Amino acid sequence: REDPSFWMENNVQVVIRVRPLNNTEKNLCGYNRCLRQESAQSITWTGHPELCFKFDHVACESVNQEVLFRVAGLPMVENCMAGYNSCVFSYGQTGSGKTHTMLGEISELGVNPGPECGMIPRIFELLIARIREEEESRRDEKLKYNCKCSFLEIYNEQITDLVDPSSTNLLLREDTNVGAYVENLTEREVTSVGDILTLLTQSSVNRKVSATNMNSASSRSHTVFTCTIESRWEKDSICNSRFARLNLVDLAGSERQTASGAEVKTILAWKKGFECAAIQPCLLSWIVNFSLVITNLVDRTSGKKWHIPYRDSKLTFLLQDSLGGNSKTLIIANVSPSLCSSKETLSTLKFAQRARRI
Ligand code: ADP
Ligand code: MG
Repeated sequence: REDPSFWMENNVQVVIRVRPLNNTEKNLCGYNRCLRQESAQSITWTGHPELCFKFDHVACESVNQEVLFRVAGLPMVENCMAGYNSCVFSYGQTGSGKTHTMLGEISELGVNPGPECGMIPRIFELLIARIREEEESRRDEKLKYNCKCSFLEIYNEQITDLVDPSSTNLLLREDTNVGAYVENLTEREVTSVGDILTLLTQSSVNRKVSATNMNSASSRSHTVFTCTIESRWEKDSICNSRFARLNLVDLAGSERQTASGAEVKTILAWKKGFECAAIQPCLLSWIVNFSLVITNLVDRTSGKKWHIPYRDSKLTFLLQDSLGGNSKTLIIANVSPSLCSSKETLSTLKFAQRARRI
């Protein structure tokens, strides 16, 4: 749906993206799938018992990068232009297509994003065009935008600046005005799509491990691409300004979902409503923490008063304004349709279903 009002009723939107079968899967399980699409909003997991899930949108195997952007990315650009903080999460098991969805293939030489490029370059292509348009149409108000981008990786609870990888182990700080931020993180002003593509290609090389491999470090790291969009204009001789932040997050693989003994204890403590002080930070794996944040936000929405454990991981601390604040959040849950991944696909669908109720 391209209509920005799509977002108005609900701050969190959940889109499922099913990637095509790959050769390994075809060799192992043939063309047997664990999913059956029912409509643009619903999909059935065909295991036992069969389960039907409803989402804001289901992008099936044939949906290409351009179409996905129209459905899910375009409304985010309008949110940013309207001054909302916005956040896109790419969620799913390793190999499900998270990076393909967020970044896709970007040609190093290109000034324009190619056909296989993902959400980030497409979002910025449109954002920059919209900014030019607005500045032009409100020239009498001297409207000016300023966009600054940063790109970081969180690996083993350590933050690395991907733009300047010599900056490792950066510190998270909190400020009453700007909220959570990373100290000494490089911010680059961008004025064209070319600037963004250069930043992305240079920085992606600095990711811990760029190749996709089930056991590689890349599956355990999150990357967060952030753009701050500031606008200034004059009206009746008064200077006005507005500030919006856009976060584009490629999450670590969601496969390590079995909680450790310590995590199980912590979760049980949560359920009993223990004080947060009793819980050791860093005890939770990111996935358990992320799920707890989502779960507790859901419970909060339904009237129960829960503490939201934002502080228990760098990821949720940094993104707390994007999770449950006044911002617009899009979760793209990536899944494989193959019977080989049936179990993981089900757990992603369940997580995504839960997130939709925030
Ligand atoms: P993840 O980041 O979740 O580990 P990737 O994005 O690296 O997964 O995807 C794994 C492989 O599958 C890559 O080779 C990627 O190009 C391919 N792939 C993922 N999604 C799609 C898609 N929708 N269409 C075509 N190829 C895809
Ligand atoms: Mg990846």
